[in-house]
Amino acid sequence: MTSYVLDLAGAGIGPFNLSLAAQLDSIPQLSVRFFERRPSFAWHPGMMLPGAEMQTSILKDLVTATNPTSPWSFLAYLVAHKRFYQFLNAEYEAVPRKEFADYLGWVARGLTSLRFGAGVREVHADDGFFSIATDDGAIGARNLSVGVGKIPARPAWAEQLPNSRTFHSSEAAARLGDVKAPRVAVIGGGQSGAEIVDALLDLDQVSVIHWISRRPNFEPLDATPFTNELFTPAYMERFHGLPEELRLLHTHRQVLASDGVSASTLKKLYRRLYERKLEAAAGPDRGISLRPFRDVIAADQDGPEISLSMRNGFDNSIETLAVDMIVLATGYRFVLPEFLHSLENRIELSAIGEPILASDFSLAWDGPRDNRIFVLNAGRHSHGIAEPQLSLAAWRSAVIANALLGREHFDLGQLDPIVQWETPGRAPGLATHMGQAAE
Ligand SMILES: Cc1cc2nc3c(=O)[nH]c(=O)nc-3n(C[C@H](O)[C@H](O)[C@H](O)COP(=O)(O)OP(=O)(O)OC[C@H]3O[C@@H](n4cnc5c(N)ncnc54)[C@H](O)[C@@H]3O)c2cc1C
Repeated sequence: MTSYVLDLAGAGIGPFNLSLAAQLDSIPQLSVRFFERRPSFAWHPGMMLPGAEMQTSILKDLVTATNPTSPWSFLAYLVAHKRFYQFLNAEYEAVPRKEFADYLGWVARGLTSLRFGAGVREVHADDGFFSIATDDGAIGARNLSVGVGKIPARPAWAEQLPNSRTFHSSEAAARLGDVKAPRVAVIGGGQSGAEIVDALLDLDQVSVIHWISRRPNFEPLDATPFTNELFTPAYMERFHGLPEELRLLHTHRQVLASDGVSASTLKKLYRRLYERKLEAAAGPDRGISLRPFRDVIAADQDGPEISLSMRNGFDNSIETLAVDMIVLATGYRFVLPEFLHSLENRIELSAIGEPILASDFSLAWDGPRDNRIFVLNAGRHSHGIAEPQLSLAAWRSAVIANALLGREHFDLGQLDPIVQWETPGRAPGLATHMGQAAE
C-alpha cells in the first residue's frame, strides 16, 4: 500500500531524466524522485570507445538553455573540478564523450532526488495517482516521467545468428576486445558504425573489415547553421503542430541532420585508411572494404562462416560476402516499457505505433489529465529530430516543469526563428504549453 504520493516519479536516469531532475532541483516545492536500475550512473557505457567525441556543444548541457544559473551546468562542473582554464586552452572542436559522461555522473552524484539500483517494475493507475513498484519499494506519484531510453534495433535478417557471431554496437566496449575473427562486417553507416570501424583498425587479429551502409555514401552529419535551426525550440514548436504525414516526411528528409557521421570522425578515418595505403607499399595491407549503398537482405550461417547477401544500389546488383563476425551498428528503437503494460490499452498510439505526445511531452491516455505520463526520447516523429538528442533536453525539462507547476516558472519565450518555416497567416495548431512563440 502506497503511503506517500510524490508530484512526479521518474523511471530511468539517463541524460534526459537527469536533466529533468536537475531542473526540478531548483523548485523545492515539487516532491520528485527518480529511479534507475543500474547501480550508478552510466551513459551508453557500451559505446565509450577511446577517442569518442560529442556531437553537441557543451552549452547544450542538462540545464543551461533555460536555467543558466543552475549549479548543475557543464561550466559549474568544470569550475568544481578546477579545469575551467585548461578546458578552454584545449580548444576542443568536439568534447570527448568521456568528459561529458563524467559531467553527467557528477550531477547524478550531487542530486538527492535520485535512487540507483532501483528498477521500476510495475505501474498501476490508482485513484488520482500512479502506484509504482520499484526495487527500492513502492511509491505513489501523481505524474510519471518515462526516461528509459531506447532498445537496440536489430535487423530481421540477423535474428537467427548466434550471439557468438554477432553483437550490437551498444555492447561494443565489452565485446570488441574479444573479437578473434579475422573477417568482420560492420553494418551501419552512422556515428557508431564509424567509431567501431576505427576501433577495429587497432585490432591485429582482424585482417579484413567490411563497412556496409545502406546510405549512398558514408555521409556527414550536417551541423551547419541553417540545419542547426532544426534544433531550436521555435522549430520544434512549429513541427509539432504539423499533421502526422508531414512530420514523417520531414523526419525522413532530415536524417543527416541527426544521424550522419561527424566530419572529424570521417576525416580521421579517411586519413587512417590513406596511411594504411602508404604502409601497404612497404608490406602486406590488411584489407578494408568500404561498401556504401548496400542493403543487407540475408545472412546465412554456413559452418563457422556467415554469408551476407546485399543489394548494391549503385549498380543494382546482388553481392555476397563471407565473414566470421558481424557488428550491428543499426541504431535503437522505442518500445513501451514493460512496466507500463497494465496501461497499454489506455494509451493512444499513432499510425506508426508510437505514443501520441502532446506539446508538453505527455502521452495521450484515457486517465485523468492531472496524472500525466511524460515520455522522453520517444518524440522523433512528434517533436522532430532534435527530440532524441541532447540539444533541447534542458528546454524540454523546463517545459515539463512548467506543466507540472501549471505556470511559466521557466521563461520559455523565443525570438522568431531566422527561417520562416510556416506560411504567413496559417499557423497549424501551434501549442501554447511550449512558450510564447506558439502564439
Ligand atoms: C553512443 C551514443 C552517443 C550519443 N551521443 C550524443 C551526442 O553527442 N549528442 C547528442 O545530442 N545526442 C547523443 N546521443 C543521443 C542521446 O543523447 C542519447 O541516446 C541519450 O543517452 C538519451 O538519453 P535517455 O535518458 O533517453 O536514455 P539512456 O541514456 O538510454 O538512459 C536510460 C536509462 O534508463 C534506465 N532504465 C531502463 N529501464 C528502466 C527501468 N525499468 N527502471 C529503471 N531504469 C531503467 C537504463 O538503465 C538507462 O540508464 C548519443 C547516443 C548514443 C547511443
